[in-house]
Amino acid sequence: MTYYPDLSPYSYDESSREMLNVGWLSPEHDYTRGVVDERVVEALKILCAAYENQMRGIHHCEFCDADRPFVFGGTTGDTKVLLGSAEIRVEGADGTCYAAPDLVLHYITGHHYCPPEEFCQAAVRAAGLGTVSELTLAE
Ligand SMILES: [Zn+2]
Repeated sequence: MTYYPDLSPYSYDESSREMLNVGWLSPEHDYTRGVVDERVVEALKILCAAYENQMRGIHHCEFCDADRPFVFGGTTGDTKVLLGSAEIRVEGADGTCYAAPDLVLHYITGHHYCPPEEFCQAAVRAAGLGTVSELTLAE
């Protein structure tokens, strides 16, 4: 998969909207590791089932041999979602849009990836799980 630094301008397709890249990881580049709020994971599970921005082709995780990583997502948590062929797009409270491969969820749960804080907040907001201040205070 193509590598883009976090928060670089998105240019994967000719979208009219300005977006920032998040989670386009590659083994050749280091990435931020850390603990991600559980609500961010829950939000991405909802979003990866709801957002169907299909990408060209199938992308595999380059950090492990997972054939097709999948999660049980959606609002009820029982929708099986195969990761690696779609994007998650979220809008932050300030109107900034972020585009991430849905593999970002696998990177977080499987490889300790810690996305930028503003993306985490946008994802929780987009999934309707809370406000920015609630997330910031969550422990
Ligand atoms: Zn992996």
